[in-house]
Amino acid sequence: MSQENEHVQCLIIGSGPAGYTAAIYAARADLKPIMYTGMQAGGQLTQTTDVENFPGYPQGIMGPEMMEDFRKQAERFGTDIRFGYVSSVDFSSAPHKIVVDEIKTITADTVIIATGATAKWLGLPSEQQYNGFGVSACAVCDGFFFKGQDVAIVGAGDTAAEEATYLAKLCKTVHLLVRRDEFRASKAMVSRVLATPNIIVHYNTETQEILGNGKNVTAVKVVNNKTNEETDIAVEGFFVAIGHKPNTDIFKGQLDMDETGYLLTKPGSTLTNIEGVFACGDVQDMYYRQAVTAAGSGCMAALDAERYLAAKEHPVEA
Ligand code: NDP
Repeated sequence: MSQENEHVQCLIIGSGPAGYTAAIYAARADLKPIMYTGMQAGGQLTQTTDVENFPGYPQGIMGPEMMEDFRKQAERFGTDIRFGYVSSVDFSSAPHKIVVDEIKTITADTVIIATGATAKWLGLPSEQQYNGFGVSACAVCDGFFFKGQDVAIVGAGDTAAEEATYLAKLCKTVHLLVRRDEFRASKAMVSRVLATPNIIVHYNTETQEILGNGKNVTAVKVVNNKTNEETDIAVEGFFVAIGHKPNTDIFKGQLDMDETGYLLTKPGSTLTNIEGVFACGDVQDMYYRQAVTAAGSGCMAALDAERYLAAKEHPVEA
């Protein structure tokens, strides 16, 4: 065990749009932030291809390139960006203790958590092979690329229902693959799906394989789990909407979270239940999950951290 110890004013955990934006604001406010990137530096966007809905990129940009821009901008103002993962935290007393890569302990006056969420995948090899080339876990991000085409989407919760209706506005036909004989989604969402003429719901249907020509998706092989009948449905796009897992395991027992693990923040802010600990981006947002909303909340987290430090330094007399 290393005895190495370091103290910082502001430690940022995670390097997606939320983390980098927090870093830009914190660095410009002279909080001298240190960021630990996590194992997937750049976050979920490094796994996408074109990003066309982030303001400021009129021609669109590739996800990894955009995250490179975010990183450079955070570095420009002096953020100390380090590759490494936070293996445990102790928020029971101030300053907060953060252990990195299981060996290095850092103490921090403020901690900004931007660890994101991970999309759940079916786990098929073909799903990974065509990820970014027809396979996507975000209809709002990638639906546009399948305008006028046929697509399939797997899932039966509110996300799948919402994304299926979103895709139906853009695509010719949307095949919604539901593994049971009923939805999990709310009644209102299901009614909307059933009332949309170009959504075809396939109940009791499981995905066996995503088929392609080596470059792009061409069809999805499904099986009816009641009749065992196999069918190939011709599609150009395949969307996975079976839920996300927030990356919050290391905060269990220390920070308030909902039953699915999303961190709870005070409404309209990034404040967690622990003073000096702030959460931004997908780790505390199961609804919007967009790069631009994550970036916006990253800005909020840095401002909240800055104000917290200022109030500690210059307490207002009661
Ligand atoms: P959920 O966990 O609610 O639903 C996941 C769905 O995916 C379930 O229907 C599940 O099927 C299905 N599924 C899981 N694994 C597989 C698999 N291997 N193959 C096929 N299907 C699978 O996740 P959501 O992302 O839909 O929603 C998360 C939360 O966010 C929910 O609380 C939801 O209400 C909320 N939300 C609310 C919205 C709104 O109000 N506008 C919009 C989006 C989300 P099964 O049912 O058989 O278990």
